[in-house]
Amino acid sequence: MRYDCVIIGGGLSGLTCGIRLAETGASVAVISTGMSALHFSSGSIDLFGYNGEGRTVYRPFEFLDEFVGSNPRHPYALCGARQVREALFYFRGQLDLEGIELYNNDESNHFHVTTLGTLKPTFFSQRSVFNEKIRLAFEKKSMIAALNFEGYRDFYPELAVINLRRNVLFRNIEIITGKIVYPDYGDPQRNPFEYRSVDIARIFDTERYLEELAVQIRNAASGAAFAAMPAFLGISNFKRHHKLLQELTGLLIYEIPTLPPSILGMRIDNALKSRFASLGGVYIAGDTVTGGSISGERLESVVTENGGGSALSAGSFVLATGSFFSGGLVSEFSRVREPVLDLKVYSDAERSRWYAPEFFPRRGHPFLEYGVETDERLNPKTGDGRRVKNLYCTGALLPYYNPIKEGSGGGVAVSTGYRAAELILEGNS
Ligand SMILES: Cc1cc2nc3c(=O)[nH]c(=O)nc-3n(C[C@H](O)[C@H](O)[C@H](O)COP(=O)(O)OP(=O)(O)OC[C@H]3O[C@@H](n4cnc5c(N)ncnc54)[C@H](O)[C@@H]3O)c2cc1C
Repeated sequence: MRYDCVIIGGGLSGLTCGIRLAETGASVAVISTGMSALHFSSGSIDLFGYNGEGRTVYRPFEFLDEFVGSNPRHPYALCGARQVREALFYFRGQLDLEGIELYNNDESNHFHVTTLGTLKPTFFSQRSVFNEKIRLAFEKKSMIAALNFEGYRDFYPELAVINLRRNVLFRNIEIITGKIVYPDYGDPQRNPFEYRSVDIARIFDTERYLEELAVQIRNAASGAAFAAMPAFLGISNFKRHHKLLQELTGLLIYEIPTLPPSILGMRIDNALKSRFASLGGVYIAGDTVTGGSISGERLESVVTENGGGSALSAGSFVLATGSFFSGGLVSEFSRVREPVLDLKVYSDAERSRWYAPEFFPRRGHPFLEYGVETDERLNPKTGDGRRVKNLYCTGALLPYYNPIKEGSGGGVAVSTGYRAAELILEGNS
């Protein structure tokens, strides 16, 4: 089978790249082993949250303009600040076509609340996490009700509220906690099942209990302007349910990302896959690329675990297999390697320098900055030093940035995926 482009890895980066290519009429296949990091993420897209000293970055694009000049190997520098912006707003436009509205605070970061009640700077959030009404109500210091569903074990509003109250931004804001009973849950003390957010979201999607829940939420919120709840307003019909619940309760309904699986992240994953399919893209799920054939400076074809030995060939390839978390990088006792093509990896030969002794070190863990080394065109080199000119590496697989320390994971995945597509299109024109 031959395609214009084969993308290995169907996460945020691979799918952004695939959509950009498929919309030009290119034949594109994405092959992906399993769930991507989106199922674990907050569903907000971070651009640049913290500078090198751990201080919050308030205006990320302004920050980037200078940052890329002094950090030429950073993935954002490989894209260029202008293309990072172009990529992010392109991404927002694509999600919009699938019914997911992403909101930003003009040129500034906004904060979203985590399950533990800490605040995290981010650039794009879904409507139930950030919009103009939420911003204004927060500025007015309106009362907040942090609510949970009785028996749901992945969110503890009392703990979240302790942390929120410690935050200077929440000074003089009244926060109460409350419980609502999910009608299908039965007796939470005797319930033999552990409901995860995804189970509850699926029940929400049926819309069966919306009115009943609205009454409970209104009562539990007793006078608050916001009802902040774990994010499970549905996976497919969330937009309608959010609107309906707000109308029925008269409250701003705020979604807090839950422990995985993250409904907010799953919505983005579904939307990207749906957009890719609607453009004619082929998504091969549940298969793993195990190797490829490189001839001279070109990758000719790849083989997969389930392909029965038949090769997939293409004019260009994108490797978007993620970091250690998704199997894009593998650590052995004394080396870090890239398992599909054994590409040249940036890492440290000395294992004891891979991590810092503290759990949350200020300077971050070094292993988070390891990855497949590329040139400025995102082309990697093989282990024996040959440059592969029709292979582009993107996303969490790339080195020289730290998604946790910087708060930049989503932004890097989107912008390098987009950048690879632009380079491929330039090469074809
Ligand atoms: C727990 C967690 C929470 C995060 N939260 C946030 C957040 O709130 N906001 C934010 O902006 N960023 C967040 N990030 C970072 C951001 O989500 C990731 O950097 C980004 O999603 C990475 O996208 P990716 O496409 O590069 O890789 P991934 O999402 O890791 O996708 C890689 C895909 O490749 C597949 N794959 C791997 N090897 C092969 C193979 N050989 N053949 C075929 N397929 C293969 C994997 O199965 C996977 O589906 C978080 C990351 C993690 C791990």
